[in-house]
Amino acid sequence: MKLLSVIVPCYNEEENVHDFYEELMKNSAFFLKKEIEVEVIYIDDGSKDGTAERVKELAARDKRVHLVSFSRNFGKEAAIYAGLQKVKGNYAVLMDCDLQDPPSLLPEMFRYIEEGYDSVATRRVTRKGEPVIRSFFARMFYRLINKISRTEIVDGARDYRLMTRQVVDSILAMSEYNRFTKGIFGWVGYKTKWLEYENIERKKGETKWSFWKLFLYSIDGITAFSTVPLAIASFMGLIFCVCAFLMILFTIVRKLMFGDPTSGWPSLVCIILLCSGVQLFCLGIVGQYLSKTYMEVKKRPIYLVKEEL
Ligand code: UDP
Ligand code: MG
Repeated sequence: MKLLSVIVPCYNEEENVHDFYEELMKNSAFFLKKEIEVEVIYIDDGSKDGTAERVKELAARDKRVHLVSFSRNFGKEAAIYAGLQKVKGNYAVLMDCDLQDPPSLLPEMFRYIEEGYDSVATRRVTRKGEPVIRSFFARMFYRLINKISRTEIVDGARDYRLMTRQVVDSILAMSEYNRFTKGIFGWVGYKTKWLEYENIERKKGETKWSFWKLFLYSIDGITAFSTVPLAIASFMGLIFCVCAFLMILFTIVRKLMFGDPTSGWPSLVCIILLCSGVQLFCLGIVGQYLSKTYMEVKKRPIYLVKEEL
């Protein structure tokens, strides 16, 4: 028998654990007919509510349910990595616990794998139910990162993705600390089929992503998959040097022709402010890359497991 592992990162999802299991198992008959066993790996990402207990209830009555509990909240990216490391079978699929990734899509996704695709990804074509400002910034982010990065990062892509063993191994080979999964999927490549669906609103519980968290996540994404901001910093430095050189020439010529070297105090202040602003900005860009490198060279584990079932 083959094995399909369903990886479900959960952070404070006690209301959704059982619902998700029921919904998923409704679709397992399709796989059983194809002689594929479906197992569920819940990754409890340091939940403070009863998520782990709910999963244990399921595990007590169904051997196909597994639990990995983190020692604290390490973030969804770490949970995805941990889940992929636990995959022993032939196929893996990543799904959110809140049923925003419909399990009813699984049979269709699997058919494409049978057709020869290595990975079947999903993207939502609408952002219904999301605050307008958030959608706007999300769109801006995707437009920006696709301009400055060679890795394709698809707008509206979900982490909901079915993949073969080979793709899982490739993702695991990227053991970086700053994980930006949407970019990692694009980076590893492989023949990918995209399925689209309308956004489904969360039924129970609430989103774990505040605007600020998303903003920091977008910086993670940019620094992980593009070095263009560093080039922009150097380019700005060059432009300012050229400007300064022209100004020096202008001042010398003016002094020689009109003998008026001391005027222009206000413009001097403006120039100093502008230049120091640009310097700090560029230093900040360098700092971002340095901090990511710092975290990377420390080689801290991506997550810590407290309990496994
Ligand atoms: N999640 C997680 N760790 C976190 C934040 C979220 O494991 O630090 C899980 C969460 O439980 C859910 C999935 O990641 O199963 C997606 O989170 P959420 O629904 O809050 O994100 P959204 O759908 O709003 O983008
Ligand atoms: Mg969600």
